[in-house]
Amino acid sequence: MNSTFSTDLKIGVLGGGQLGRMLIQAAIDLGIDLKIMDEENAPCSQYAAHFTCGDIRNHEEVVEFGKNLDILTIEIENVNVDALKELESHGVNVYPQPNVIELIQDKGLQKQFYEKIGVPTAPYKLLKDITDLETEIEFLPAVQKLRKGGYDGKGVTAIESGENIQNGFDAPSVLEKFVDLDKELSVIVSRNNKGEITTFPVVEQEFNPEANLVEFLFSPADITTAIQEQAEAYAIKIIEQLDMVGILAVEFFLDRSGNLFVNEVAPRPHNSGHQTIEGNYTSQFQQHLRAISGLPPGATEIILPSVMINLLGEKGSEGEAHYEGLEEILKWKGVYPHIYGKSISKPFRKMGHITVVNKDLTEAKKLALKVKETIRVIGK
Ligand code: ADP
Repeated sequence: MNSTFSTDLKIGVLGGGQLGRMLIQAAIDLGIDLKIMDEENAPCSQYAAHFTCGDIRNHEEVVEFGKNLDILTIEIENVNVDALKELESHGVNVYPQPNVIELIQDKGLQKQFYEKIGVPTAPYKLLKDITDLETEIEFLPAVQKLRKGGYDGKGVTAIESGENIQNGFDAPSVLEKFVDLDKELSVIVSRNNKGEITTFPVVEQEFNPEANLVEFLFSPADITTAIQEQAEAYAIKIIEQLDMVGILAVEFFLDRSGNLFVNEVAPRPHNSGHQTIEGNYTSQFQQHLRAISGLPPGATEIILPSVMINLLGEKGSEGEAHYEGLEEILKWKGVYPHIYGKSISKPFRKMGHITVVNKDLTEAKKLALKVKETIRVIGK
């Protein structure tokens, strides 16, 4: 028998940043009102049909927010997992499941998990503090990563040799062998509660070396079919082994010898899937909502190749955000700005993104470079 979808589904989201805003846009297309919880003035606060001002890390506040919901999801991992477990035990469908969020909050547990399920990841050591780092000189060059709380390159530092030990973190961390990177790749995989799985085509991310943030994203990635299939197979294995419902962004390193290593995963919409809004048949945001609501997954194929540019706050400026050059880029074909509505710009803060689509990826790249040179977010 066919089940009947109801737009009365009560779906809540912990976190109300730009990912939440784009989830709201996708939810509107399905006729669903999302309920969002975050702090005052979060980017979603003016747009959510129901916005609850609260702390997503606070046990009581999360339980209070979630207790009458049918489904509760997240747009950031830094949430109170115990509260989610309590809600789950009272019958709320929490997707991704609290045990998955718990694993992902800890980069050390993530590494052990990849090892356990046989998905290759760069060699590593677990450190309890900086004294452990001093005993691992032979393992260098490596990258030290805080086990918990890091994001967007914060909580990650390169330790080239014994002379750089003083730059290390004095906290529980993962020391990961330095990978001689050819490319950084990402696959978004989705799974609904009936176990139906889809993957989006592999994309390639180019990082800004100073900010450690994605500067350009190319869809599709310029890789062999074998690497494409391998990355998708690993992504599917990870989501199956996690028994997870929702979407999962799986980030990979491809080294110069052609080896693929999983770097980390994020169980939510991700920066490496923003181009799917214009570039693919189904966006990552709609796919996430479909997965958690038990709806059939949408087709993930690329309609047009695309380049995504993160719009970062200009270095050396802070204050009210001004978008220089926006009017110019709006005149160009295939250029889609997404401004997140954050009032204050800070150096390297993610203020928006721009997607450029073209039937020829080389042309899209050329135009994306022009966009990059033309638009600036200045804080005044
Ligand atoms: P975050 O969770 O903050 O995004 P990542 O672990 O993804 O942190 O690291 C941020 C960036 O640092 C990566 O995208 C990559 O460019 C670089 N990096 C991380 N680990 C390694 C490694 N083992 N070898 C080489 N570069 C790395």
